[in-house]
Amino acid sequence: MPPVVQVITHGDINEVHVVDLRSDTVSKPTPAMRKAMAVAEVGDDVMGEDPTVQKLEAKAAGILGKEAAVFVPSGTMANLIAIMVHCNQRGSEFIAGHTSHIFLFEQGGSAALAGAQCALVANKNDGTFCLDEVRERIRVGPDFHETFTSLITIENTHNMCGGQVLPLTWLDELAQLANSHNIPIHMDGARLMNAVVQSKVPASRIVRDMASVCFCLSKGLGCPIGSLLCGTKTFITKARRTRKMLGGGLRQCGIIAAAGLIALEQMVERLQIDHEHMYTIAKAIDDLDSDLIRVDLKMVKTNIAMVRLDRTRVTADAFLKRLATVKDTDSVKVIVKGSYRNDGCIRLVLHWEVTDDDVNKAIEKILLVAHEFNNSTLKILV
Ligand SMILES: *Cc1c(COP(=O)(O)O)cnc(C)c1O
Repeated sequence: MPPVVQVITHGDINEVHVVDLRSDTVSKPTPAMRKAMAVAEVGDDVMGEDPTVQKLEAKAAGILGKEAAVFVPSGTMANLIAIMVHCNQRGSEFIAGHTSHIFLFEQGGSAALAGAQCALVANKNDGTFCLDEVRERIRVGPDFHETFTSLITIENTHNMCGGQVLPLTWLDELAQLANSHNIPIHMDGARLMNAVVQSKVPASRIVRDMASVCFCLSKGLGCPIGSLLCGTKTFITKARRTRKMLGGGLRQCGIIAAAGLIALEQMVERLQIDHEHMYTIAKAIDDLDSDLIRVDLKMVKTNIAMVRLDRTRVTADAFLKRLATVKDTDSVKVIVKGSYRNDGCIRLVLHWEVTDDDVNKAIEKILLVAHEFNNSTLKILV
């Protein structure tokens, strides 16, 4: 994830309200989760004896229409395991988008640990990529000098494209192409449930043609830890072995899985609220009709917004620092935390702990900071 700005305040921190929009990973477990965790039935999951983990894995596999699932500590490990299983010969290649989490934010684990080489294709703004480019990348009947294509990875919703939901038609076309070359597709569905709620298409349909899929419990769904990796029984058997090799075999992790069950029961449909909250904030920025700060409203569909700044007038870093600062003269005593994408772009992410009131306060603060930079930079221009 991009670096996070330090909080700077003047006066008493306790009087200051904080709205944390850095990521949905900052969301804490719900009271219902904590209750379920306290009474969870547990066993040694490495020995296959944790009933709560088994229940969660079965439930996840059911929702996604896959044969089996395995609980893993993180989304990063889920993706790595998928790559290790699909690209099981060292030096084989997988195709990924150039702004995918797998390529940008997983420390090159696919190269360092899986021994797989990444062939990049350009992500479009909607999170897809050009299928002709994929066609060109696929190594057909590779000769003696070449490696071979073992996997295609996609991301849904697409994080760095601002939470875009991959269109079904594109998924179907990609699947047809991949299928014709016998190449499996892995979906990094860290925020798959946001895609489900936004598109109103069942998860099982979205992932129908995927050889493997993972999704995070620890993002918008509010769990403290965990992801689920789903696929065929054969794939999951191999994934389980690989998880152990990576040190991801956990013992009485039914304590964590119990939160996951609550997430799947109670936290999916309410993601709609996060989507609406995000849109409300984005709309307020758009209504400013400013050339200093902009957001492409039609791209704000789920719980993520990319806010663009005119970097010749204010950098993302300066804007974030001011959002995290409360001055005595400020009319709104609120700290808003966001994350830095690049000098001209800030990312805001919604989650269950952000209330209606937080949304209103965040808007007030963002508008205050926008006006301030707008006025100060206009003066310089004059
Ligand atoms: C957060 C995220 C991951 C990794 O999940 P961790 O649990 O933080 O390792 C993978 N892919 C995407 C798209 C993500 O947003």
